[in-house]
Amino acid sequence: MKYKRILLKLSGESLQGERTHGIDPKQLEQYSHEIKKVLDLGVEVAIVIGGGNIFRGVQATGTAIDRVQGDYMGMLATVINGMALQSSLENLGIFTRLMSGIKMEQVCEPFIKRRAVRHLEKGRLVIFGAGIGSPYFTTDSAASLRAIEIEADVVLKGTRVDGVYTADPEKDINAQRFSSISFDEVYQKGLNVMDMTAFTLCKENGLPIVVFDMNKPGNLVSIIKGEEVGTLISVN
Ligand code: UDP
Repeated sequence: MKYKRILLKLSGESLQGERTHGIDPKQLEQYSHEIKKVLDLGVEVAIVIGGGNIFRGVQATGTAIDRVQGDYMGMLATVINGMALQSSLENLGIFTRLMSGIKMEQVCEPFIKRRAVRHLEKGRLVIFGAGIGSPYFTTDSAASLRAIEIEADVVLKGTRVDGVYTADPEKDINAQRFSSISFDEVYQKGLNVMDMTAFTLCKENGLPIVVFDMNKPGNLVSIIKGEEVGTLISVN
């Protein structure tokens, strides 16, 4: 296998499936099956889940809810998604642990690096909820940070598009997909992969990122096996 320990980042929106918000249980089930396939290969899997299908801190701007409060609401939303994903994975017989950046003992464990690594070594899938536990960050930043902390081999960013393009493929029919690209080129070309905090963390720590289409069955397994899927962003 090309990767032994992965950090999979799923956006909150990806859980809505065909819905406009919230969680689509069918979508959860489909993702769980895809994730099980890589666990069955003996790969250690950690997941960071977003919260955009329920609440984003920026939505609060200009409303009665202030930004910091909004960000904490967003973080709590990621825990809700994490709980849903945990249940769905457990239905397939997968051993999981949900770890949170904000303490909430009745529903999940606090994030402790050594404990997270131990879970992974024992073959348990670990879901990281509540982002990094601080406002003004995103779950992409949490994905980068947690991946570095647990010494993952790669961040796999599952999206609706199948990689990084020269322009937005939903707006420009001439947009070309990169099969691989360096961190520096992404900066130079001003391409949008992750927010800059998240992206820089990966770059500075030499942690590769693969952007790929999570909705295409088999993609996740193909990446693990080293096949060319999506866009690989690496140091060179
Ligand atoms: N958030 C935060 N700190 C973090 C992670 C998330 O404040 O470390 C908040 C932020 O308001 C964000 C929301 O939680 O908008 C949901 O996360 P995100 O927008 O990254 O979710 P996604 O876009 O992946 O669904």
